[in-house]
Amino acid sequence: MYRKGRAWIELNLDHLKHNMKQFRRLLPWDCALMPAVKANAYGHGAMLVAKTLQEQGVNAFCVASASEGVQLRRAGITGELLVLGYTHPAQFDDLIAYDLIQTVVDGNYARELQRDGRKFTVHVGIDTGMHRIGERWENMEEILKIFRMPCLNVTGIYSHLCVSDGQSQQERAYTMEQIHHFEYVIEELHRQGFQDFKCHLQGSYGVLNYSQYCFDYARIGIAFYGIYSEKNDITNADLDLKPVLSLKSKVVSVRNLYQGEAAGYGLAYNADQNRRIAVLSIGYADGVPRNLSNCGYILCNGKMAPIVGRICMDQMMVDVTTIPQVKPGDEAVLIGKSGGLEIRAEDMAQWAGTISNEIVSRLGERLERVAE
Ligand SMILES: *Cc1c(COP(=O)(O)O)cnc(C)c1O
Repeated sequence: MYRKGRAWIELNLDHLKHNMKQFRRLLPWDCALMPAVKANAYGHGAMLVAKTLQEQGVNAFCVASASEGVQLRRAGITGELLVLGYTHPAQFDDLIAYDLIQTVVDGNYARELQRDGRKFTVHVGIDTGMHRIGERWENMEEILKIFRMPCLNVTGIYSHLCVSDGQSQQERAYTMEQIHHFEYVIEELHRQGFQDFKCHLQGSYGVLNYSQYCFDYARIGIAFYGIYSEKNDITNADLDLKPVLSLKSKVVSVRNLYQGEAAGYGLAYNADQNRRIAVLSIGYADGVPRNLSNCGYILCNGKMAPIVGRICMDQMMVDVTTIPQVKPGDEAVLIGKSGGLEIRAEDMAQWAGTISNEIVSRLGERLERVAE
């Protein structure tokens, strides 16, 4: 198959290893990396990312679903695989067959696992204030019940911080409360004689802003890929993280649009003067947000070209009037570098009114993933 023919992702695996080392240096020696490779490793390609990191000695990962875990096992990933989300009882077979660690999402779910009768390895979710997943931290009785269930092999507990990216006094106070609630649960479990379990609390921003509160694992997602959630995020750790992913496509056609003409679906772009338009072979089915219609930029031959007209499912248009040398077959950079310029996932996210996590995790199946 010809690579890079239409629309593709280039992965810089050296940057991935560089980011890993940055986190390794920041974390205490006894806190292990457990990178989040859910959602196809935030669009990067889970197999390639997990394999690369496994070769570097990483031996724990977290995924969103049992199916994601199964895929990684089949690709030869051998370490601990934690399923962060709900698994339907019909898929409990996979938990056992592929040696996955299941999250206990609450007390009811623990009883559901118990009804099955087989022995499951689990980490118990603790709700310390996000109110999404986990048994409430105050319900020690329920948490202890889960620990005592004979069919559960509880090897860990974890919680999740929900405002660890915020720097306001209120957000910092809330995060400290969550940390204290988590510590309370650990102490209570110790007091009840449970010693042999791992604890983890932090994702990217937890690690970046509260590195003094690391437990046994760090579940780093977005930042591992060298991306911040938002463009102007400031973190206490101030690491030198490098973006792993570039998103590129081809110029299909360069055409004239005369003054007064309109282009694309809904004739949403109007030429106020004669323009040259380049058509690119990438669209919203590949993960380019449709609300970048008439908004945002791409890079071509080291220059910025504004996006014009509506983003189509498989194609889009940009204005290359001021870049005269553009021709069919040229490369268009949607995320990444061209000449001296760079568009980051954070830029695209800002133009589209979202966070970069959403941008990269929605990059399509159809894109080739090419390691550099
Ligand atoms: C997705 C996720 C992570 C990783 O989050 P990032 O902010 O991308 O680092 C960690 N923990 C849980 C429970 C998650 O769902």
